Amino acid sequence: MAQGTAVMGTDIERLSLNQDARAMIARAREEGIETVWDRLAAQQPQCGYCALGISCRNCSMGPCRVDPFGEGPQKGVCGADADVIVARNLGRTIAAGASAHSDHGRDILEVFAELAGGVTEGYAIRDEAKLRALAEEWGVESDGLEPAEIAQELADLMMEDYGTRRSRLGFAARAPQQRTELWDKLGITPRGIDRESVEMLHRTHMGVDNDYVNTLLHGLRTSLSDGWGGSMIATELSDVMFGTPQPVVSKVNLGVLKPECVNIALHGHNPVLSDVILQASADPELVQLAKEKGAAGINLVGLCCTGNELQMRKGIPMAGNHLMQELVLLTGALDAMIVDYQCIMPSVVDVAKCFHTVIISTADKAKFTGATHISFDPHRALAIGKDIVRRGVEAYANRNPERVRIPDEAVEMMAGFSVEAILGALGGTPEPLVEAIKAGKIRGAVGVVGCNNPKVQQDYGHVRLTQRLIENDILVLVTGCSAIANGKAGQMMPASAKLAGPGLREVCESLGIPPVLHMGSCVDNVRILVLAAALAKFLGVDISQLPLAGAAPEWYSEKAVSIGTYVVASGIFTVLGVQPAIFGSRNVVKLLAEGLDDVVGAKFAVEADPEKAAALICRHIEAKREALGLEHRDRGPVLASAA
Ligand code: SF4
Ligand code: SF4
Repeated sequence: MAQGTAVMGTDIERLSLNQDARAMIARAREEGIETVWDRLAAQQPQCGYCALGISCRNCSMGPCRVDPFGEGPQKGVCGADADVIVARNLGRTIAAGASAHSDHGRDILEVFAELAGGVTEGYAIRDEAKLRALAEEWGVESDGLEPAEIAQELADLMMEDYGTRRSRLGFAARAPQQRTELWDKLGITPRGIDRESVEMLHRTHMGVDNDYVNTLLHGLRTSLSDGWGGSMIATELSDVMFGTPQPVVSKVNLGVLKPECVNIALHGHNPVLSDVILQASADPELVQLAKEKGAAGINLVGLCCTGNELQMRKGIPMAGNHLMQELVLLTGALDAMIVDYQCIMPSVVDVAKCFHTVIISTADKAKFTGATHISFDPHRALAIGKDIVRRGVEAYANRNPERVRIPDEAVEMMAGFSVEAILGALGGTPEPLVEAIKAGKIRGAVGVVGCNNPKVQQDYGHVRLTQRLIENDILVLVTGCSAIANGKAGQMMPASAKLAGPGLREVCESLGIPPVLHMGSCVDNVRILVLAAALAKFLGVDISQLPLAGAAPEWYSEKAVSIGTYVVASGIFTVLGVQPAIFGSRNVVKLLAEGLDDVVGAKFAVEADPEKAAALICRHIEAKREALGLEHRDRGPVLASAA
């Protein structure tokens, strides 16, 4: 199967849909600066065994590989066949992704606990109503308690969810009863967040779990410990500490950089850092220092999911998604890039060396050779934040104005659709959304999520799939780098309702919302789970009965594999646009693309072409409508003319 879905055009046009990206790729070529696309080309041909998932280096009797053509070895030295090797590799990928999300959640939880203890600087409980609602959900008696006391008790309970003493995670109760009973029956109810990932590493050690079905069932459980565990803790506590997002209009693309200002980009994932940097950048002394250096002020911009966290809560503009992280440096206008962890290419240090930009790493678990490391400590968060911003201001003095090239105008986008905001727009209940679905004005909803991947023309998968879905009256919920792609393409303003089919357009125009709703960062995919659970509970059905689907058209990361798996394990059909490393085992492919439907009521599909992916999803949604006894279209999607 082809990995890429590049459209016709010049060489550079085939790499990205965006004019700003194309201009910076051209500059990189002119100046001989290496980017991700050069390195992908240098890696060709990539290893076919690894691409199929049939290579193993889990022990030193190996490395081993299985011949996919049946002529060479069919088993590794230990006797593991293709099914076992593929399942073990996939299990480890899920565990890595779940661990990344859940460790991010733990970092937030630890700061939350320290905030409760009164020993942090720069943090506050910003959504007390949400804190009290969470306390009630977790069985904390909050009457008469101060917010800090409630937070302490809640933090203790949530920390227990990371361990081994529970039989079910606290947030799993948010799923409909039919779903939790199914998880119990299958033995995949998530217990401890860390426990499931550790058990996966144990199972995939040589000589432990040698039954691919059993390994993959634990893969579902591991992913559920992310979706209904670590990621959900990250999202909910971030809302309590930094504010629950509400709709906000902001801007996106490289045009958000300002030539007259100190430009500082925040890249990574954890809002614990970015929130204090935002506070520090407003410090009058630092603003004055910027002016003394000749700048008009300090301009903060976001990248990837840190950008999403800042944009949806504070309206901070977004410079770009995953494949823009090197290109933003190529503008010559970025004075500092502040990073925490996840999705930060080590190459940013090399690109930054071609300009005056300082790269400042902040997480002790994520250092970058060649970067300046400033260890972040929540006890002195604001002081450290000011130190970091000061370095950005000082770097501005080294900027060469003649090397500044900022392409394109910024595009407006609306962000901030938390579940609370969506329900608020609907009058406090899912009923209007359910009625619109029943009436067929909205056929269903799809979460289009995930990354950029240089194997796919940047943003094409997200933008084209989203366009096709909204044309077919399907509400699109986006997170992560997908949201940024849709924003750049102008699909995320209320006026974008005109791009939708007549039913969805009518609903969006009556509510004043876009047809593509920005629900946040990658960990915030759990907001989609929470919304799906609320709809299912309202209707008294399981999530798998709803006209919903998921898609990750340009995914690259292990976290995306964990997300896709917990979405399927929660009952939602999911289409991947990039081929996962499983095609070396027919049995594993058959299980994930067919058999899972009978087990969890949902399955995976792999489809690189977003036009075909849209058709698959539309047919799935109409089939779910039919099964619910709703009006349905027999002919599948009404694909509109090319966008
Ligand atoms: S676990 Fe088995 S297949 Fe993997 S490297 Fe060791 S011997 Fe080879
Ligand atoms: S969507 Fe993918 S690339 Fe983007 S921040 Fe999330 S994991 Fe990283």
